[in-house]
Amino acid sequence: MLKLENIKYSKNSNEIIKGINMEFEEGKIYGIVGNNGVGKSTIGYIIMGLSDYKPNDGRILLDGEDITQLDVTQRAKKGISLLWQEPARFEGITVENYLKLNRKIPREQIEEALEFVNLEPNKYLKRFVDKKLSGGERKKVELASCLLLKPRYLIMDEPDSGIDIMSLDMIIKVINRFKEMGSAVIVITHRKEIALSCSYSYLICAGKVFLEGTSDKIVEYYEKTCDTCGHINYLEE
Ligand code: ADP
Ligand code: MG
Ligand code: MG
Repeated sequence: MLKLENIKYSKNSNEIIKGINMEFEEGKIYGIVGNNGVGKSTIGYIIMGLSDYKPNDGRILLDGEDITQLDVTQRAKKGISLLWQEPARFEGITVENYLKLNRKIPREQIEEALEFVNLEPNKYLKRFVDKKLSGGERKKVELASCLLLKPRYLIMDEPDSGIDIMSLDMIIKVINRFKEMGSAVIVITHRKEIALSCSYSYLICAGKVFLEGTSDKIVEYYEKTCDTCGHINYLEE
């Protein structure tokens, strides 16, 4: 169980996260939804422990252990992982070596992960993870890499962004695969189809959890009120 307790985070004396409480259990899919700029990515970075995202107040607990002061590498070792909205590029590394990352992973597993994200292994294994791959292709490679990593907690920041709409079913299939593997998936998303595949969602508004509950309830509410949410944002700024 991963728990955020009263997390606050400010940047340049601007309070971006204003005391949030969240709970994530392994084997479940969680949605984080809300308008642009409300703090969704920031929450993801705080959970991952990126160096610029240490909370000013509150605690992060992993199975009861306080991990608030742990850095990103220490958290990664504990099984927390982040799929960036913008996938990285690595000059000079092939897809195959990128997916292996010094680990002894059987070739069949690598091929299976690529097939899972709709990349034909024969076509992609020897390609380089550089700018010659499209953003969508790199994102698929990152998804395959997450599948091989088998994180306990995976934060996905807008997994559909930069990927063609035809890949939406694949992304939902990947999210469900993580659930089957026993991972907790925390999906930041604007897309209804993805939000509805989560079992529980948090609606974020102006750096706070505005509402939480079953995803159908949250999506229905958000669709009706996202303009109001924007208004609250505006009022608080
Ligand atoms: P979302 O992911 O919901 O679109 P973000 O978490 O990216 O929102 O951003 C939340 C707010 O924090 C925004 O108002 C954004 O401008 C601000 N913000 C994010 N990162 C920084 C930063 N490094 N420096 C200053 N402001 C930031
Ligand atoms: Mg955004
Ligand atoms: Mg964002």
